[in-house]
Amino acid sequence: MRTRFAPSPTGPLHLGHAFAALTAFERAGDGEMLLRIEDIDSARSRPEWEAQIYDDLAWLGLDWPRPVLRQSDRLAAYRDALDRLGAMGLTYPCRCRRADIRAALSAPQAGAPVIGPDGLVYPGTCRGRSLAEAGPEDAIRLDMARALDRLGPALPAFTETGPAHAGRHVLEAQALIGTVGDVVLARRDLGTSYHLAVVVDDAFQEIGEVTRGEDLFEATPIHVLLQALLGLPTPAYHHHRLILDETGRRLAKRDDARAIAAYRAEGASPADIRRMVGL
Ligand code: GLU
Repeated sequence: MRTRFAPSPTGPLHLGHAFAALTAFERAGDGEMLLRIEDIDSARSRPEWEAQIYDDLAWLGLDWPRPVLRQSDRLAAYRDALDRLGAMGLTYPCRCRRADIRAALSAPQAGAPVIGPDGLVYPGTCRGRSLAEAGPEDAIRLDMARALDRLGPALPAFTETGPAHAGRHVLEAQALIGTVGDVVLARRDLGTSYHLAVVVDDAFQEIGEVTRGEDLFEATPIHVLLQALLGLPTPAYHHHRLILDETGRRLAKRDDARAIAAYRAEGASPADIRRMVGL
């Protein structure tokens, strides 16, 4: 069994990350947990945070194979996957800014805007533009209807073993059209997106089980769809419970007070951290 813990070095690891890493490590059993640094967002990623990740995880008693994969070294692989989807006729360049999308969605004939796992469902303004006219100001989107057409009526499925959604989930065309829509595969500033990068890397690293938080469960159909289009294997999925604060909200990077480093500075032990996250 090979699992992975895939933090972004954009802030300190907090209790939620500790739980995710410990869960991925334990679920790997006799296998291995890989650590992957998701640093495609170079404006927000910092070497100090990356160094702190290694330090906190080692302090928690975790170990992982080295060298670690860093997504900033993998841009050519993402480009290649993007080009393959483009060659299949499944992508188009999009020049819309957020304000354009909001304006299109608030038009009287547009109906109520839908917010899915990838934010506002794109109204399709640029659909039909050709990749030949793509410029540096364009994002690249997946044409969801065409992608589904290409896969035909038997859509792929994935197996989930997490507590909230355990079972086999077959992708649903209507849900993908209605609540996901034409997702961005390459942001204009990054040349890729979280969805594309994670799919390419989970396959490249031969991950057997994607272990991650429940907040990403809704994104999984996007990943499984991309795997099918790119001819990549679909791993098993385990979306674990989230660690919440006293008010029931999930922890975010800005919750520095719950940073592992802050608890360490106060003298907490790794066993204390395990207890705090309910292990
Ligand atoms: N990099 C993502 C995060 O920091 C996790 C991605 C994943 O596990 O698929 O939350």
